[in-house]
Amino acid sequence: MSEQKLSQYQETVQSVKKIAEDLGYKESDYITLLSPERELTVSLPVTMDDGSVRVYHGYRIQDNSARGPYKGGVRYHPDVEIEEVRDLALLMSLKCSVADIPYGGAKGGITVDSRELSETELERLTRKYAEKIYPVIGPEIDIPAPDMNTNAKIMGWFRDEYSKIAGVQVPAIVTGKPVEVGGSLGRNEATGLGVKTVTHLFAQSQNFVPEETRIVVQGTGNVGLISAQLLAEEGYKIIAISNIAGAVLNLNGLDVSVMDLKNGDQKNYDLLIAQSGSQEIPMEEFLFTECDILIPAALQNQIHAENADKINTKLIVEAANAPVSAEGEAILVNKGVKLLPDILCNAGGVICSYFEWVQNLQYFSWTLEEVNQKLIAKMTSAFEEVLKVQAEQKGTYREAALRIAVDKLIQAAKFKGKF
Ligand code: NAD
Repeated sequence: MSEQKLSQYQETVQSVKKIAEDLGYKESDYITLLSPERELTVSLPVTMDDGSVRVYHGYRIQDNSARGPYKGGVRYHPDVEIEEVRDLALLMSLKCSVADIPYGGAKGGITVDSRELSETELERLTRKYAEKIYPVIGPEIDIPAPDMNTNAKIMGWFRDEYSKIAGVQVPAIVTGKPVEVGGSLGRNEATGLGVKTVTHLFAQSQNFVPEETRIVVQGTGNVGLISAQLLAEEGYKIIAISNIAGAVLNLNGLDVSVMDLKNGDQKNYDLLIAQSGSQEIPMEEFLFTECDILIPAALQNQIHAENADKINTKLIVEAANAPVSAEGEAILVNKGVKLLPDILCNAGGVICSYFEWVQNLQYFSWTLEEVNQKLIAKMTSAFEEVLKVQAEQKGTYREAALRIAVDKLIQAAKFKGKF
């Protein structure tokens, strides 16, 4: 009989179980980490602009609340399905734990190609989703946020719908809102600032000199573009960048300051390719560009069993969620490539979400400097803890981050008691 391939969620569960056992815990200590605490599936009827009615399907998975209220984004994508949302919810529990913020983990999603919807249809869909998951969320229960294809505007609608049903203003119900309705300064740049902070610390730990360090970045969205710009400001040489429009190489270093998120992918690509010394390279070879640090900041599963042996870098910083598969990582580790995991590297977004929530609960806003300074401090201490555990255990940085996360989750559950 052929062995059935594990889903990504089942693989993550297996690695949590293995780490818990390595830490010396009994099954009764970690069993609650192996399945989500609550799963909600909702149907979302939406009246379209032409008067027809379509029914979409949405999810909210609440993975673990041992360390605090559930926290996690909402994704709008045609491929959203419950097993993927489960995996993303578990990753959030681990990420909040590594980042040491007082949240559990959750994730939500709607199976929809949001590009096909008009703005009014998108607003109706979002409001319907907020209404349907209302019974299980709350500012001290579960706090959604943006994820793939959701943004500040959508979070503004969500906040409004929840507040209408509650009959009171509840800004702390979602994070990633526009600043005008309770969002935090610095939230847009937070993930990129977190990626830059850990990349710089990682490079320093390897005695890399910024001006001599060649960096390759996949993706020029919120995470990739801001990480590239902040690293270039620190003196690093960004030698290659790709996005959906193409891949560009410039061994003299690209001037990434010309890019702007508002431009969109095509225009940013055009601005880079027009620079002196730039050349177009095939997309399928982009990730194999020789460099010192490779930052995949676009999609999941970009480096895997079939292409990992061709990767030509010293360090990988996982800015996207799950850009390197488990098999891909094993090949890289064998080659001596060091990899800093996603649950550490892209935690800047959720850390700033936590700051937004704290400001909402206090009805008091912080300056951009305060937000950034606190964010850098949190990312730095999380990085240092991962490095310390890795030095003690001699495993991978991912195993070190998982050890920290799983241990904290089990300890919190222990102190809450079982009855
Ligand atoms: P985004 O949608 O803003 O940008 C994605 C970028 O990837 C775009 O530039 C797009 O052109 C590019 N891209 C898509 N397919 C590509 C391909 N085949 N080759 C090269 N480039 C390609 O997304 P984002 O918010 O920057 O998120 C990127 C990743 O980081 C995702 O995995 C996301 O889950 C993760 N993440 C984002 C945040 C956040 O705060 N935005 C936080 C944590 C994790």
